Amino acid sequence: MKAAFLFLLFLSVTAVSLGVTADGDQRNESLSVTDIIAKVNENIQSPLLQDDIMTSSDRNADPCTATGCKWRKTSSYVYVPVVISSSYSQSERNTIIRALLTFHKSTCIRFIWRKSHRDYLYFFSGNGCWSYLGRQGGGQRVSLRRKGCLSTGTIQHEALHALGFHHEQVRSDRDQYIRILSENIISGKEERNFRKVPTNNLQTSYDFNSVMHYSKYAFSKNGRPTIVAKSDPNKKFGQRSSMSANDIQRVNRLYRC
Ligand SMILES: [Zn+2]
Repeated sequence: MKAAFLFLLFLSVTAVSLGVTADGDQRNESLSVTDIIAKVNENIQSPLLQDDIMTSSDRNADPCTATGCKWRKTSSYVYVPVVISSSYSQSERNTIIRALLTFHKSTCIRFIWRKSHRDYLYFFSGNGCWSYLGRQGGGQRVSLRRKGCLSTGTIQHEALHALGFHHEQVRSDRDQYIRILSENIISGKEERNFRKVPTNNLQTSYDFNSVMHYSKYAFSKNGRPTIVAKSDPNKKFGQRSSMSANDIQRVNRLYRC
């Protein structure tokens, strides 16, 4: 425990001492997090489920709480060991650290440097922005390509997948709130990206402002909406900046913070 705190402190000091720089990809300013992820990932030919969730051989996209893929809690905190690839520049590294530290402010998740921990996240600049869903056991990769994935919202988004969270628009009760317009979805993207999942919604309301929500035009083949809000067809959603209050509450409920 003592060691864990030391690493936590080190992580914090590293981020704080090096000051704040602008988020990674300014060119994607007008896009939502999920649009950015979709754009970065558009040419990937790999077994990605829901665009940026990597499938694993021994786990499907069932709710994390039911499959034991939560990270373990030790007394008050959930320590998630991390390694950040040395291929990132110092500034890129700091962007990732700063985004991870946002969880420390609002939840009981504590990202710590991996020492000899068995399970950990390995952040690296791979082919696109993607993550596995929940704790996999052993070292698990989280790809944050340096061109396109290094913004606070995108890093939080992939970290939330690694903590066990799905995209908002696939949650079990989504049909009460949104309508999926299949006729506008790019062929082949429908099943993988819009299929409903029997999620545990942790008594939180459906959240159009979630950093895990796709935008209205996600995977559109014709420029028309693929998702519309039932309450208001003109409603816009799919924000890009950071976790919503609901996203934070869900982390706190799932991990009993
Ligand atoms: Zn995602």
